[in-house]
Amino acid sequence: MTRSAKATTGPDSPVARREGVTMELTVDRERCIGAGMCALLAPELFDQDDADGRVLLRDPVPPAVHHSAAHEAAHNCPAAAITLLGRASAPEPDRHTGD
Ligand code: SF4
Repeated sequence: MTRSAKATTGPDSPVARREGVTMELTVDRERCIGAGMCALLAPELFDQDDADGRVLLRDPVPPAVHHSAAHEAAHNCPAAAITLLGRASAPEPDRHTGD
């Protein structure tokens, strides 16, 4: 990927910016022990591999409606295998000129 390539996922992607509040999820399948709490608490975001039971990430940049469930899943993962990054987007600049 070149430096000029635009991100298609991640907190600065067009999809994330559209939501107003960005969140990016990553999972560490090496740490995952297949407990399944994430898939139970946030099935829209996580699934488990049929072969080994380890986590599969369904949506790395979830919409705002799933942010609470993402926090709950990350908090309850017994292996600390879910990383959650997020920040509020800066508001659009006020274009009022004051005249
Ligand atoms: S809750 Fe954690 S350990 Fe359990 S399946 Fe999900 S990522 Fe893996």
